[in-house]
Parts: sequence; structure tokens; C-alpha cells
Amino acid sequence: MSLLSIRNLEVSYAGHAGTTVRAVAGADIDVEAGQIVALVGESGCGKSSLGKAAVGLVPASGGTITFAGAPLTPLRRGARPKAERKLQMVFQDPFSSLNPRRRVGELIAEGGQVATEAGDTAMSVGECLERVGLSAAFADRYPHQFSGGQRQRIAIARALAARPRCIVADEPISALDASAQAAIANLLVTLVRELDMGLLFISHDLAIVRTIADVTTVMYLGKIVESGPSASVWRDPLHPYTRSLIGAIPRPDGLGMLPADLPGDVPNPARPPAGCRFHPRCPTAIAECRTVEPLRERLRPERSVACHVAAAMEQRVRADAY
Ligand code: SF4
Ligand code: MG
Repeated sequence: MSLLSIRNLEVSYAGHAGTTVRAVAGADIDVEAGQIVALVGESGCGKSSLGKAAVGLVPASGGTITFAGAPLTPLRRGARPKAERKLQMVFQDPFSSLNPRRRVGELIAEGGQVATEAGDTAMSVGECLERVGLSAAFADRYPHQFSGGQRQRIAIARALAARPRCIVADEPISALDASAQAAIANLLVTLVRELDMGLLFISHDLAIVRTIADVTTVMYLGKIVESGPSASVWRDPLHPYTRSLIGAIPRPDGLGMLPADLPGDVPNPARPPAGCRFHPRCPTAIAECRTVEPLRERLRPERSVACHVAAAMEQRVRADAY
């Protein structure tokens, strides 16, 4: 079993006028030790809700989350079992996620408390700082004395103090300038490899995802629509939404790719379209797409896709091969 295994996850919020918003509508995702899994999609697709539910910050309304072989339950933080403390979250905004009145060393030591409460040894403040490329002498300073990139390093150091086996990072680079973005992405890759951690990397920055993720998982309006090894997904995206995100669609004459336009916005998750949720924006929708929801199927080894047309095309390709 995977280090982090999420099955049929549901996250719902109360919307306007008694409606229920299914922000996550039955999602499966797996993260292995030493693996970077990217979760991509436009904003409003439920990526953050999935990430927060994975670490227990918002309650799941259905499904199961298994971490290091143990089921996770959305309990109060203090009551979380030991396994859950090994799952840490890094947020988008290092300006608001660090208490400005605490010294860096205190902030990191606080992160380590969850490890000691669980009977583990916290990583020392000095080691945390060094692992994220900062001097141990910075422990006495305050967050405002650092740049955005450095603050995100401090936030990562705080997560490391708990000796996590997996980190969920929600848009960890999107608030940073371009050079800090690349540096933080590289740091996360190094930490995953050195510490054999899992990383669920939530991002809408596809250029970075392409360079760092082992697995790319695409989410649309609460559903996972495609997942597979990054190299394969990027070479040959099967779901029309993935193709639009990547910015390319296959030419009808089979000679390479054409740029894709993604019309319209993500619909309101309180009133998702019937059938395939992507059908109002899909360039290849057929009549069935308006009424029948496509289930995610394994169409190739390690590739799964939820699309009627992609499934039919794969079947045809297989039939032609015989
Ligand atoms: Fe498009 Fe239909 Fe596939 Fe949905 S199921 S992505 S509408 S072709
Ligand atoms: Mg988000």
C-alpha cells in the first residue's frame, strides 16, 4: 500500500441558500515514499480542499485516507494519532503562515513539538535550517527580516522539524518571484530524495510541475480526470482537459499538436454540469457526455483517465493493433 492513500474522498461545504458544494467529489490519489505527485488544475477545482482534508485540516465528508498503513481521521489536532503528525502541510503564503512575533527558532521548535508529543525526536532547529539552505544563526531573527523565498524555506524547516514522512504543499511557490520559485521547487525535490519523503505538490504552475513531478494528477471540478507518470502524461495527454491545460491538442491529421484554447471558466461547484463535468468546455464532447458521467479507467499501464471519448479511442487503437 502507498504511504498516503486517498480513496473516494468527499469534501463538502455549505453553500448559499442551503446548497451543498462538493468541493471534492470522490477523489483517489496515492503518494509513495520518495515520490513527488503533482495535483494540477485551474483554481476552484478542489485541489486545496483535497490537500487540507489529506492532512486533517478540514473534515472529509466521505471516503478514506490511509497514511503509513493507518486510517486517518479528522480529529482535533491535539488528539491526532502519531502517524498523522508525520504528514505536514506547507502553505502558499509564507507571509501569513509564520507568526511575525515569534523568532524563527521558536517557530521551528513549535513544529518539532508534534514530533516529541508523539514520542519521536524532533529534528533540531539548526539541522532544519541547514536542510533548507539557511544558516543556523538565523534562528534568533524574526520572519520579517527575510525575503519571501527565505520565509518559505523557514515554513518548510518548520514542517521538517516534525520529521514528516510526507508533505502536502499547497501552491508553495506561487506567491514567490520567479527565481525564488525555481529555488524552492529544487529544494523540495532535494528534500524528497534525501529524506525519502512523499510530496503532494499542489500547483497550477505547469512549467514547474513538468520539471519536478514523478506523477501528474489532473483535477477538474472536484474529480480526478487523469493521472499517470509525468513523462507519459506530458508526452501524450489523454483527457481533453489535460490537453487544454498543457496547451496543446493533437492535430486532426495526426501530425503533432496544435495550441488549445480553454473556453469559459470552471463552473460553480454548487451546480456542476450533468454527465461529464467538463462537457460545456470540451472540444470533443459527444451526446453521451451530457448525461453519462465517465468513470476513471485504467486505459494503459499506469495511465488512468475519466473520458468516454478517450476510452473509445484507446479501444480503437487496441483493436487496430490486432
Ligand atoms: Fe469531453 Fe466527453 Fe471526455 Fe468529458 S467525457 S472530457 S465531455 S469527451
Ligand atoms: Mg487552491
